[in-house]
Parts: sequence; C-alpha cells; structure tokens
Amino acid sequence: MEPKEERVIREDERPKMLIVDDNKQNIEMLMELFHGEYRIAAARNATRALKVAFSDAPPDIILADIIMPGMDGYEFCAQIKEDLRTKNIPVIFVTAVSEVMDQNRGFALGAVDYITKPFHPPVVKARVKLHLNLKRKQDLLEKYAFIDALTEIPNRRRFDEVMLKEWNRACRSTYPLSLILIDIDHFKNYNDTYGHGQGDDCLRRVAVAMSRSLRRAGDFVARYGGEEFAVVLPDTPAPQALEAAKNILSAVDELNIAHKSSSVALHVTISLGIATITPDDSKSALELKDLIEAADKKLYEAKSLGRHTIACYSWLHMT
Ligand code: GH3
Ligand code: MG
Ligand code: MG
Repeated sequence: MEPKEERVIREDERPKMLIVDDNKQNIEMLMELFHGEYRIAAARNATRALKVAFSDAPPDIILADIIMPGMDGYEFCAQIKEDLRTKNIPVIFVTAVSEVMDQNRGFALGAVDYITKPFHPPVVKARVKLHLNLKRKQDLLEKYAFIDALTEIPNRRRFDEVMLKEWNRACRSTYPLSLILIDIDHFKNYNDTYGHGQGDDCLRRVAVAMSRSLRRAGDFVARYGGEEFAVVLPDTPAPQALEAAKNILSAVDELNIAHKSSSVALHVTISLGIATITPDDSKSALELKDLIEAADKKLYEAKSLGRHTIACYSWLHMT
C-alpha cells in the first residue's frame, strides 16, 4: 500500500472541474464520467457556481448547462469571461441538441466548446482533456510573459500592471502608496572587472535578496530594467517605506558580493529613491507618472549624494 501522504499529494494535483446544471441526473452522469481523474464541484444553479468560480480555489475547467432557471448558461459564461480572475477558465456547454438554439452566441461569449447529449464518453473525455491542456499552456505563456528571464522575478510589464492597479486603488481610497526605485552602484565597473556572466549572477542574487527582505504580503518587487529594480508598497506611508528601503539596502550589503572597482565600498551596493503619495478626497492633478518621476528624481539624488544611500520624497494630495 502507498504511504498516505503520497496519495494525498497526488490527489491534490488532479485538475478541478466545476459542473453547473439544474438537473441532478445530468450532474450525476458527468460525475460518474469524470470522477477519479478530476476534483469535482457541482452546483445546481449559476449563482452558486459563480461563488465557487470566484473562490480562492477556482476550477480549471467548467461544464455548464445552458437552460437553467434564474441565470442561464450564457449569462453565467459571460460573467466568468468578464472577470479577470476567471476569464481564462475554459467553459464548455454540455446540453441537449434541442437546447442549443444558437452555438455562435456561446462562442461569442467566450465558451470554448459544445458537448451535446446524448454523448459518447470517450469523445467527451478527450475534448475536456484537450481544453485543459490548452489552458495549461496559456497559463504558462502568461506566467512567463510577466517574469524576467534572468532574475526570475516579475518584469517591467508586470510592474506596469501592478503599479497601475495599486495607483487606481490608492486613488479610490485614502491609503498612501509608496514606490522605491533602486539602482546598483557602479555596475558597469562590476561587469568590466568581473565579466558579464558574473554580472548576471550578481543581478540574480540582488533580486533574491530584495524579494526576501520584503515583509508584507502586498509588497512587490520587479526588475525595472538593466540593473534597476522597483518596489511597490501598497498602503505604506513614508516612514514605513523608509524602513522597507533600509531593509533592502542592508539585505544587499549582507550579500557581501566583492566589488573592488566600486568607489563606494568593497562590496556591491545600491542606491534607492522613494516617493510616497497620500490621496485624499480632493481631486488633485497628480498622475501615476508623477509618482514614478518623483522616485526617479530621488534615486538620482541618492546617486549624487555619494551612492549607497536612500533619498525620499513624500507629498500629500492637495487638501
Ligand atoms: P551608477 O552607480 O551611476 O548607477 O553607475 P553604473 O555603472 O551602475 O550605471 P550605468 O548605467 O553606467 O551602467 C549600468 C550597467 O549595467 C551597464 C550595463 O552593461 C549593465 N547591465 C544592464 N543589464 C545587465 C544585465 O542583464 N547583465 C549584466 N551583466 N549587466 C547588465
Ligand atoms: Mg542604471
Ligand atoms: Mg547603476
């Protein structure tokens, strides 16, 4: 017999399937077909199914009936496709031929396939598997589109997305938002002294140290470009942002990567520029680019102050 723990791990790896159908027999029939290979959740109406889909454990694939009392399958599919959290989940309509009034409508709403009853089990299984594989590939592509290949931390594209999201959130609330821009000191000299390969290695280690030094769940670090990094700190006022910056600075110091051609220290160091914004109710003319420019200015100031240092800037939306 297999050890229990191993079995549990394997079970958890099975893809999650959500079935929504108002007819109990239909649900049972599909469960019979897919149990064992999938972790199945079933809902008798679309509202309940949406709750499952928007939960912390969203399904990998959805099989949906079309005609249901209350919200029908089309409306359900439209809501799944509208939400960023669920838009990539394939939705397959499983329904009687007579109920499919308009296949184009389903495809236009984002459904990937139709399976019509009475169905041929091997064909249904093969089609579900096909859509799951396609989804896995799409998820992987999306993941790598947002990861920097060298450092394996989020890239500039992801930074732009997160920054905009946090900016909009801060504007809607009264929470402060801080941004730290970071640049490795005398990195050109580092490459010239130790070679580009070791330079790459240094970038990787600095990226890991910075990621580890962040304390709060919402804190976010990305490679901003070349030897520059950006840290987004949501709900963080200037004094706490300064604390975070000090932690990052020390974390890189502690790596103690030798840098004999630096004029600043015997090891690799960084300079940091911080900007914090505290929105209030009055609509100020400040834009996201102003926050980024302010942090960039401060980074420049940290450089001109002698590097291996932090400069910060904070301001309030006009009251
Ligand atoms: P400062 O202290 O003013 O920031 O000086 P610096 O030499 O760090 O700045 P500069 O902008 O002159 O040089 C940045 C260097 O970073 C030059 C570039 O070759 C190097 N660099 C950028 N991206 C990479 C990379 O992916 N790998 C390596 N090894 N080096 C990189
Ligand atoms: Mg630079
Ligand atoms: Mg530099």
